[in-house]
Amino acid sequence: MFLDISKLEVETVRHEYTFTPAEVGFDYKGYELADAFSLNVEVTKNSRQEVLIKGTITGPVRVFCDRCLEPFVLAINPSFQIAMIPARTAGDETEDEIEADRLDENVYTDPRISLTDLMTEQIILNLPAKMLCQQECQGLCARCGANLNQGECACTAAESDPRWMLLREMKKRMK
Ligand SMILES: [Zn+2]
Ligand SMILES: [Zn+2]
Repeated sequence: MFLDISKLEVETVRHEYTFTPAEVGFDYKGYELADAFSLNVEVTKNSRQEVLIKGTITGPVRVFCDRCLEPFVLAINPSFQIAMIPARTAGDETEDEIEADRLDENVYTDPRISLTDLMTEQIILNLPAKMLCQQECQGLCARCGANLNQGECACTAAESDPRWMLLREMKKRMK
């Protein structure tokens, strides 16, 4: 699905799109789109062929927990703003330019913007840096690899067993 800047009128238009996971073709760290994603955009074009895209993306991503490695579904709903400036006018400092300060500004040569590429980029940009299935995720046992969210493993039980504690104390004293 493409948005062709050259075919847009000089005005502001709103569009709503829905993409299936297959249409987006999301491919990042083994994560997958868990269901259809919607993309709402407000596209403003001026007479200089500059375009401002304000958008919101909504959908679920199937990710993996960084601590326990279990898959879980994360619902995301990021907003973004992107300015598209045609290559020939890039760098011109004029007053009627679209306000591009503090926005993602892209210089384009091809007026066709791939909406699915744009979505993929924005989804990746807006994923949390630390992926946790739950705030209190206990992670995996460093010794046996058991998922500690599902209860204590044998190692933990052994560690906290008072008899082992006593044994370790005795060993220390013998050194
Ligand atoms: Zn986890
Ligand atoms: Zn263990």
